[in-house]
Amino acid sequence: MAVSQFDRVADFLKLPADIRERCKWPKRIITVTVPIRRDDGTTEVFFGHRVQHHLTRGPVKGGLRYHPDVNVGEVAALAMWMNWKCALLDLPFGGGKGGISCNPSEMSDGELERMTRRFTMEMIPFIGPEIDVMAPDMGTNEQTMAWIMDTYSTHSGHLVPSIVTGKPISLQGSAGRTRATGHGVAFLSSIALSKLGIKEESATAIIQGFGNVGLYTAVTLASYGVKIIGISDASGALWSQDGIDIHALRAYVSDHKVISGFPAAESIDPNEMLTRKCDILAPCAVGGVIHASNAGRLDCKILAKGANGPTTPDADLIIEKRDDILMIPDILCNAGGVTVSYFEWVQNLQRFQWTEKEVISKLETKLHATFEQVMSYAAKHKLPKRMSAQAIAISTVANAKSTRGLFP
Ligand code: GLU
Repeated sequence: MAVSQFDRVADFLKLPADIRERCKWPKRIITVTVPIRRDDGTTEVFFGHRVQHHLTRGPVKGGLRYHPDVNVGEVAALAMWMNWKCALLDLPFGGGKGGISCNPSEMSDGELERMTRRFTMEMIPFIGPEIDVMAPDMGTNEQTMAWIMDTYSTHSGHLVPSIVTGKPISLQGSAGRTRATGHGVAFLSSIALSKLGIKEESATAIIQGFGNVGLYTAVTLASYGVKIIGISDASGALWSQDGIDIHALRAYVSDHKVISGFPAAESIDPNEMLTRKCDILAPCAVGGVIHASNAGRLDCKILAKGANGPTTPDADLIIEKRDDILMIPDILCNAGGVTVSYFEWVQNLQRFQWTEKEVISKLETKLHATFEQVMSYAAKHKLPKRMSAQAIAISTVANAKSTRGLFP
């Protein structure tokens, strides 16, 4: 998907063949074995990957994912998207992504800690605050980042907070980082609502996913007065035309781990939920959930792509032709996380802490300006929004590469 998107945009930009090849391939692909002692005394070997898409504009930046489906191809695609995301937001980073193929829900905290520390040790020759800065992604969280920072700092002989972002606040994490991705999805959706002349208090939203992104998308949209009528996670989907009480659902999930069984809403089919009528549809879970067979049946006015790659290329072709849907591309829509990661890295390098108000206001300013830039580039060049965002990003990277020149 990432490569076919790249080719389409590179054709539009008429990128010269040499620059095109240099922009397309990752700089480094690192695969390591991660042996750990399980709690039952046996030894298990996991496979970990890190792809560094390029270092032309600064250290690579991006998450570390723990999921059974992780493989090097997926990680490479996600690194390429991170690369475009950082360039689009004009952050001084290349794109990186990493992952370990494992099922974190079946591992104890001790096993997760040993796996994270061993993976970090294996990565030490390839990472650093000026080389590669990891962050949370699917299946990882601020505790994972704390273990990475501790392992790296112990190895260095001094505290190096800038080695990861998305750390706990007590360890020089940034205020606002936990909610940043979902906050950005909701904030951009509200800008899209105002473009369409829809008032927040009369708007409805369907959110797929109740992990970090889905949760804070729901919390922020609800705080704007938007009614959350549908929400799903891996356990099922909930529906209430009167609106789901997100705070009550959050409390239910902290006791029951999943949304299914929440008494104050009806249980519905999670796939069918995606095609129900709403103003904002926000897929905030895994990739590829909107495809050729459901894209034509979407009944939303705004498609806010909180997940990375939630629509397949076939679905994109269908959605592009539908002028009844305003689509917010993923590399913009979910960029709140990496933007506040950048703020965290800057704060760490300066040994300084900003307030949550400062962080969120800087985040909103950056997201709003980039949204307008994507919209006007799309209008000027008659492009779909996704291509517009990618074209801005890829030309930023291509310009940096051609101006730096080719070594030697
Ligand atoms: N994993 C997040 C993403 O896909 C955040 C990356 C970061 O903060 O570096 O954008």
